[in-house]
Amino acid sequence: MNQDINCVLVCDCWGCKEWDEEKLQELLILGNCPMELLEKICLTPFQKMKNDICRWTLTGKGNISTSSTWQLARVHHPENNIYNQFWCKVITHSMGVFLWRLVLNRIPVDTKLQWRMMQMASKCRCCKTTAIETAEHLLISSEAARWLWNYFGKWMSRDAESMEDEGRIIPRLRKWRSLFPGTSHLHINFVLPCLIMWFLWLESMTALSKTWNSMLVTSRRESSCTWRKKEDTAG
Ligand SMILES: [Zn+2]
Repeated sequence: MNQDINCVLVCDCWGCKEWDEEKLQELLILGNCPMELLEKICLTPFQKMKNDICRWTLTGKGNISTSSTWQLARVHHPENNIYNQFWCKVITHSMGVFLWRLVLNRIPVDTKLQWRMMQMASKCRCCKTTAIETAEHLLISSEAARWLWNYFGKWMSRDAESMEDEGRIIPRLRKWRSLFPGTSHLHINFVLPCLIMWFLWLESMTALSKTWNSMLVTSRRESSCTWRKKEDTAG
């Protein structure tokens, strides 16, 4: 066999109905490959009645890589342009991760923790009349959220001032975006909804942390009083 081993094709080693084992053996010897491979190659199934399908392609640089295989094998879903708002240079990395998790329903609001089997009552910290804390309530329909959306909506557009929609995260982002067609995703119009939700979330976390701190102080005071009472009784 005078063929360059790097240029051998499958058809060079395939007879009319089966692998040409003699040729394969020669190739394995030329390539210093273990003979056990011969059996594995011969077990490779062939679908003779079907056309060939490309399973692995070269990258643009002419290499073969696992990422090029993944690109070929994976199922390509339609692009979701909502994410363009999160992964851009005017949104910080922390904000982008938060917004991405928000869209995937991964932020730890009360209802999410309950869904995770945490035994707890839900009570929002954003309204005078308390409500169940969901992501939609916290970031869209709560008193504070509605005030913020209306306040910044007035700046941008008459239609954005009172957003009559389902009060859900993705429809809200899409509707806001539809009010400003042809605007770059780096424009303040597009960034504002992200900022509103991010800072509402930060405020909520700050309020939660204050609640926990006050509960901790109360708990320490109570345990201190109990300890003193015990000391008094013992004395
Ligand atoms: Zn609320």
